[in-house]
Amino acid sequence: MPDDAPVPAPADRPLHPATLAVTAGRPKDDPDAPLNEPLTMASTYVAGGDREYGRYGNPTWQAFEAALGALEGGRCLAFSSGMAAVSTVLDLVGQDARVVMPQHAYLGSVAYLGDLEARGRARSVLVDMTDLDATRAACEDAALVWVESPTNPALEVTDVRAVTEAAHAAGAYVVADNTFATPVLRRPLEDGVDLVLHSATKYLAGHSDALIGAVVTRDDALFDVLKKRRDLAGAVPGTLEAWLALRGLRTLHLRVERAQANAQVLVERLREHPAVAEVRYPGFGGIVSAVLAQGELAADLLPRKTRLWVHATSLGGVESTLERRRRWKGEAPTIPEGLVRLSVGIEDVEDLWADLRRCLDDLV
Ligand SMILES: *Cc1c(COP(=O)(O)O)cnc(C)c1O
Repeated sequence: MPDDAPVPAPADRPLHPATLAVTAGRPKDDPDAPLNEPLTMASTYVAGGDREYGRYGNPTWQAFEAALGALEGGRCLAFSSGMAAVSTVLDLVGQDARVVMPQHAYLGSVAYLGDLEARGRARSVLVDMTDLDATRAACEDAALVWVESPTNPALEVTDVRAVTEAAHAAGAYVVADNTFATPVLRRPLEDGVDLVLHSATKYLAGHSDALIGAVVTRDDALFDVLKKRRDLAGAVPGTLEAWLALRGLRTLHLRVERAQANAQVLVERLREHPAVAEVRYPGFGGIVSAVLAQGELAADLLPRKTRLWVHATSLGGVESTLERRRRWKGEAPTIPEGLVRLSVGIEDVEDLWADLRRCLDDLV
């Protein structure tokens, strides 16, 4: 935790995530100090301190890092995007190292690993992480094991603790992409993983207006290696983006709770609707995948017919969005053509359902 961005002194018990989301990373409450960290736009600093230059650190990033670090329970480094964090972590593996990843991990992560493999840098092993025996077998000889639970957009859940034990037994590091669950619902460092990764672009920032990523760890040696890589590669966040992400983080728990409550109502109703063949929902969070009975054509049509739901990729914003996932060439061929992924927002659930139902009724 940076000294200049303290979390509030703990009382006789750990603070609840809702309290951390609101308070962590605030400046010291000196008279006339701003309540929250202001935007510090600086490419360089007066010599003699710890920061020295704008690529090495910034008080606004550090406030965001302190807050997310407190929520996940480790030390945080912010990156210019989720993919900057993904590529920095994947680049850590040695020549010819085996990297195990869920077959339905975020498509950018799978693509980056495939690119490393194509350049002779690493060997990729894609597995179905709902199959623990297959995952345990894949972990043997691995250097790095990637966990994503739930996956996107298949929404498969894995036993993070069991996979971590198998990976550690094989001497591998474990990284969990916690973008979907957020630290409000899951804290993978408590399950023993070495690194937690975020596309803070999604729920953490939460307002569809900033690209930013982050990595959190309790391992000081790993933290130092990642900090050095970020300094060298320059994959640093924009100051405005870090400020927006921290502003978003302050309401993370409320947004996640509301999106989840809305999603649970919509899942029940979607399951009853004759235009929907299958609903995938892990039981928590705000992302729902619906496989339409009429397949690809219907799944292409639905996002064009809704008025409240916006046809857009990405997820985790206050606004509800949806898209047919197989419209992306990189999407796994095992994802059904008729699958529509819904990112449920925080609007009124009856308004959301009325808009969806009107369009689904036309597709029966
Ligand atoms: C979006 C996303 C990423 C990539 O993050 P960007 O901020 O878009 O670079 C990584 N992992 C998951 C699960 C994502 O949804």
